[in-house]
Amino acid sequence: MRWRNSSSAARTSLHAIRAASGALALFVLSAWAAAPAHAQQLVPGSLDVRWNPGAADCKTDTQPPLQVHQYEPQTYILRQNLCLSPEGNFLFLLIGEQKALLIDTGAIADAAKMPVAKTVLGLLPQRGDAKLPLLVVHTHSHTDHRDGDVQFAGLPGVEVAPFDVDGLKKFFNLPAWPGGQAQIDLGGRIVEVIPSPGHNRAHVVYYDERTGLLLTGDFFLAGRLLVEDKAADQASAARVIEFVKTRPVTWVLGTHVEVKQNWELYDLGASYHPDEHVLQLTKDDLLTLPETLAAFNGFYTTAGHFLVMDQNRVLGAMAVAALVILILVIWGLWRLWRRMRRKTAGAANA
Ligand SMILES: [Zn+2]
Ligand SMILES: [Zn+2]
Repeated sequence: MRWRNSSSAARTSLHAIRAASGALALFVLSAWAAAPAHAQQLVPGSLDVRWNPGAADCKTDTQPPLQVHQYEPQTYILRQNLCLSPEGNFLFLLIGEQKALLIDTGAIADAAKMPVAKTVLGLLPQRGDAKLPLLVVHTHSHTDHRDGDVQFAGLPGVEVAPFDVDGLKKFFNLPAWPGGQAQIDLGGRIVEVIPSPGHNRAHVVYYDERTGLLLTGDFFLAGRLLVEDKAADQASAARVIEFVKTRPVTWVLGTHVEVKQNWELYDLGASYHPDEHVLQLTKDDLLTLPETLAAFNGFYTTAGHFLVMDQNRVLGAMAVAALVILILVIWGLWRLWRRMRRKTAGAANA
């Protein structure tokens, strides 16, 4: 440059400029390094919705089978009527430019009772003569998350993904399951797939890069945390938390709500949820999961807001208790019968 060696004053200025630009470069570099690896612009959405509460007397229920809430123009949350299934499953529909993704099909196969496929297809944008192609996936293999699959079988432009571990490994190319992650590309919208066994061996968590929603299925929700494999669930919690460290999470959405606003549990199978807790939990809530699971005794534990239980062990214990009661009743009846027989024999001999 023309003024580079012209004077010592100019050199001083040059050094000052170099130092300043070096510092600026260093600042920019360190800011880049400190920024989340996935600092994408998130599309905002609304959860300003009151989910239908079901009814104390379902004979008088007039709520629709599926409640549909548009979170943002390309994201829908659907909830199944608690009177038709007390599980009250939430389903998620994410729409990309080339494909749409339905996460879970819910607890009811009968389309006349619960028109999942009809409702979802009705929400899909038109592409020429046909609807946008649809991929149907699941959070896990429990039937309340996939009984609606039959409604999608054979529909044109619809693909239903498998729900067993071997099928998932192949479908998502996850040979190191539960290690690794996969991506579903919907066209301008990537959804990350994170294996998360523990509640169920085929459990998967989904992260939507468009909205920053983390869809945690039954792995993490406002309700009972049912754990069939504690070690697997703890490892999954560690993996999911590692994953969200570098991602913005708007909300954490599970697939059921089983508590009131004050976190008091509804009875199992309750078809009426007055004063229900909101669906959405936060990233901070999720970060408490390792602590909650560490406190879990492997059978039945209340930790923080959550009731954690191994549903298989609790059911097994209930079956043993029922068997013991049955044996005691039979033994009591046998003793009573013997006593009466002795009395009758004594009276006959007298
Ligand atoms: Zn489940
Ligand atoms: Zn479930």
